[in-house]
Amino acid sequence: MTSRPPAITVLGSTNMDLVAYVPTAPRRGETVFGREFRTVPGGKGTNQAVAAARAGGTVTMIGAVGRDDFGARLRAALADAGVAVDALREVAGPSGTAHIVVDDDGGNSIVVVPGANATVTGLAPGDEERIAAAGALLLQLELPMEGVLAGARAARAHGVRTVLTPAPAQPLPGELLALTDLLVPNEHEAAALTGADDPHLAAEAFLADVPEVVITLGAAGSLYAARGAEPVLVPAVPARAVDTTAAGDTFVGALAVAHAEGRPMPEAMAWAAAAAALAVRRPGASSSMPGRAEIDAEHA
Ligand code: ATP
Repeated sequence: MTSRPPAITVLGSTNMDLVAYVPTAPRRGETVFGREFRTVPGGKGTNQAVAAARAGGTVTMIGAVGRDDFGARLRAALADAGVAVDALREVAGPSGTAHIVVDDDGGNSIVVVPGANATVTGLAPGDEERIAAAGALLLQLELPMEGVLAGARAARAHGVRTVLTPAPAQPLPGELLALTDLLVPNEHEAAALTGADDPHLAAEAFLADVPEVVITLGAAGSLYAARGAEPVLVPAVPARAVDTTAAGDTFVGALAVAHAEGRPMPEAMAWAAAAAALAVRRPGASSSMPGRAEIDAEHA
């Protein structure tokens, strides 16, 4: 392990999560009473940035918030988590929002309204340097594809490892796949992108396009596959799920830190599984993410 914390740059979304907790999620046309409402900083980019910072990374966030109350709170929340926010632009109009319903089984359904995130169609001055200085660039698909591609190109130009979470699932341009070093879909995204319901078959299909893939399987753990090696299934850490929102982002943030520290992938996945288990035991998205000492204790 290195003694200096690994530098991680995130190019991604920043949303205010508007979370309603309900016994059972409403069906179309139905109205239900919720028991509780919270506003929680979120967005896959922000969640991964906070997760990586809590896990011990030195993290820089590239993205955009609106010129509104949510924007100010989102910036403050990232800064409070120790994430550098000088590359978080403030643009006219509303911040991104995610409207989340969490039911008593810990399941969730989500509507994302991109707001300011939609303006990130490329890199701003200084962003390329921020990417070049990182050990890894974390990308997701909640920004415009042109923005994601610009970040991936900059990372590749500077030899920086790219980690792509292909969520929300959508057809991936060949160029983006070619610029991806590690793809981290969940099992639903893996099935949607490859047409293969079996994660082993999906992983094999992905390896035609990317050198390494980790498919997360919820409580069943995660599957690692790399070209020329046997796939490895890493178990989850048992947890009574209270709220699985951002389990995947917690996993990716912690995984990126552990891998950037030089840990082999299956060991990094086991550590990330401990981080994710801690997160699903508590309500909230970024607010539920564990710190490094907690992860170490859970992993021990
Ligand atoms: P989300 O969209 O809710 O953020 P995801 O679907 O992207 O999550 P999952 O595959 O559900 O990601 O979970 C990621 C990791 O989190 C899993 O590989 C596992 O380690 C951990 N995890 C998720 N759910 C549970 C659970 N119920 N118990 C223990 N660990 C879990």
